[in-house]
Amino acid sequence: MDGMAHRPDRRKGALEVICGSMFSGKTEELIRRLRRADIARQQVAVFKPVLDKRYDESSIVSHDDSKLGSTAVKSAAEIIRLAGEATVVGVDEAQFFDDGLPQVCTQLANEGRRVIAAGLDLDYLGKPFGPMPVLLALADFVTKVHAVCMHCGDLAHHSYRITDDKPLVLVGEKESYIALCRACYNQAGTQAAGHS
Ligand code: ADP
Ligand code: MG
Repeated sequence: MDGMAHRPDRRKGALEVICGSMFSGKTEELIRRLRRADIARQQVAVFKPVLDKRYDESSIVSHDDSKLGSTAVKSAAEIIRLAGEATVVGVDEAQFFDDGLPQVCTQLANEGRRVIAAGLDLDYLGKPFGPMPVLLALADFVTKVHAVCMHCGDLAHHSYRITDDKPLVLVGEKESYIALCRACYNQAGTQAAGHS
């Protein structure tokens, strides 16, 4: 009976993960949630990997030009160090973080904080990306968002690389990637293989 008693002093933390392909609106959705937390006067801290230098070194930026101030960090462990008293912790481009990120997010959630992490679930080869699979498994809430397929207009699930650059981590933009649905992605892959 006592064990079920209401404990108003106990903050309930949670891990929310937003995933999807490039251009699917992950950063937009992350910014939307963080802005609402800010409106509710919660203390918000936002992090991104230092490697993501698109547009702005100290902001997370969506393809829609929505922006929010953030801190660029070299490792997941730095998030713990820099989170301070924030009750809401946002992480963008989670796929580029080291394997320590799931543990860091779990620790922050266990401390009673709301953690919201956004990242690519799949790389351009269609393989689960970095720490994302573990993060998704540990999440309390998962939101998968979709881009629009640039070939047929269906819901896109894949990021397709339209340049020949080889490294997996190619931080790129519209000139390097397009969003494709499963069928158009598979078709494009077959055609590319046929050409080589
Ligand atoms: P993500 O963080 O998932 O890459 P963003 O939040 O940065 O996505 O960008 C989403 C925005 O990208 C959309 O609101 C739209 O303006 C733009 N956009 C460009 N190409 C596409 C596409 N193929 N499908 C959907 N949105 C697109
Ligand atoms: Mg983004």
